[in-house]
Amino acid sequence: MDMIRSVSEMQQKAISARTAGQTISFVPTMGFLHQGHLSLLEEGRKRGDLLVLSIFVNPTQFGQGEDFDDYPRDLQQDSELAKKAGVDIIFAPEAADMYPSGYATYVDVEGITESLCGASRPGHFRGVCTVVSKLFNIIQPHVALFGNKDFQQLAVIKRMTLDMNLPVEILGMPIFREPDGLAMSSRNVYLNPDQRRQALVLSQSLLQAKQLVSSGKIDSAEIILELQKNIKKQPDARIDYIQICHQLTLQDQTHIDADSVLLLAVYFGKTRLIDNGFLM
Ligand code: AMP
Repeated sequence: MDMIRSVSEMQQKAISARTAGQTISFVPTMGFLHQGHLSLLEEGRKRGDLLVLSIFVNPTQFGQGEDFDDYPRDLQQDSELAKKAGVDIIFAPEAADMYPSGYATYVDVEGITESLCGASRPGHFRGVCTVVSKLFNIIQPHVALFGNKDFQQLAVIKRMTLDMNLPVEILGMPIFREPDGLAMSSRNVYLNPDQRRQALVLSQSLLQAKQLVSSGKIDSAEIILELQKNIKKQPDARIDYIQICHQLTLQDQTHIDADSVLLLAVYFGKTRLIDNGFLM
């Protein structure tokens, strides 16, 4: 397994691999790898001759006062896990190489970036789309794998790839959960034991909503009200949003159908966690 820190070296490797007829699969991450990331790598391993993992805590997708400085980092442990997962190249660039002095170009996807996480984190998706386009240009993947955990991010990347005619297949992967249901996230390490217990209300809300739907409730507002009541019982929980949206447009839906996705973002103390799931 190679560790590449330089943008130009990574791009050269990618060009050589493509010239040699290799298929490149790519998993972009911010590191501090967990089983969710590893499930993407496992699928990525099957999809390409050359499996590239990027580890980059991208400054442009963090807002002021967000956790950029505190974001957990452990490149040594990530390297060991990546090696076991069959990664060929870890690309871990320096911010100064990705955004050199004079950097001035950003990618903005309109519409679906404005609601949900886009509303609570202004500029977040601009940063995500900018870094993902840059990574696509550097790594030149045939296929890139993203988790459904970040449902809106996946929808935004699909939109950008389509709109910009990027020659990359975007693959969405299932949410990997802890045995008790909590969606795996690098940010789970911020939770104290009590908050960790309270955070189970996220996956429980998905189950609760599905049960309400299967018992015949299809009014989104009524369902959301029930979920709010339950989440507010957790002393450290502060709801950012609970919305029921169409899976493609991410527009709010007043009534549930087969395209309905429940999306939640809830703070537990200072830690903001997200989760989502289909309701039918
Ligand atoms: P991150 O390092 O948090 O930026 O995540 C990198 C990629 O891993 C994104 O495509 C995420 O959606 C995906 N991912 C994060 N957590 C999970 C999970 N629990 N299950 C599946 N994919 C995940």
